[in-house]
Amino acid sequence: MEVARPGKYIYPDIELDRVEGQVIEELKSNSQQVIPDPAEWLDEELKKNILLTTVDAVINWGRRSSLWTAICFPACCAFEFIAANGPRFDLSRFGMEILRASPRQADLMVTAGTLTWKMAPNVRRIYNQMAEPKWVIAMGACAISGGIFRSSYSVVPGYNRIIPVDVYVPGCPPRPEALIHGIRMLQRKIAMRTNISLERLKQ
Ligand code: SF4
Repeated sequence: MEVARPGKYIYPDIELDRVEGQVIEELKSNSQQVIPDPAEWLDEELKKNILLTTVDAVINWGRRSSLWTAICFPACCAFEFIAANGPRFDLSRFGMEILRASPRQADLMVTAGTLTWKMAPNVRRIYNQMAEPKWVIAMGACAISGGIFRSSYSVVPGYNRIIPVDVYVPGCPPRPEALIHGIRMLQRKIAMRTNISLERLKQ
């Protein structure tokens, strides 16, 4: 009987070479296809972090969420507007707590009060100086139609005689909740805007 000695295998060298070659050939024949990357985590990350939308949706979202109001409050409805800005109704929730003294930094006019013909040129000038795109909310009966002063020789029977109005909020005065409802309606209107004109793309 052959006894293993230190430094010598009990199998002959030729047998070891044959077994080793067999293992290599098996591995080679089973390794002809590329093993796919373990990348399920990447799919999950993409699903969580990629949002497909349109340019219009993003621009409109930004605009309707940051309406800055020009200071133009000629009469008593203004106090309801001021109340809407206070902590109880908190217009900051809509990104519009900033009132701009400069019309160039404003894109919303809330016409909170009676307008006289004497003041009308100044209101129109403020509107004309506001940045584009811009919107107008007619707040209260006086802003919509002249209200109880409609028959007066000095009162403008509605702001829409001098500037375009987007949303009408009735009441004398409308409560802050009504104004906020009007703001939400305006936001929906802004959300439906198309910002890229086909005519401009053709140029
Ligand atoms: S609608 Fe009424 S509360 Fe508002 S400005 Fe006119 S009178 Fe004043």
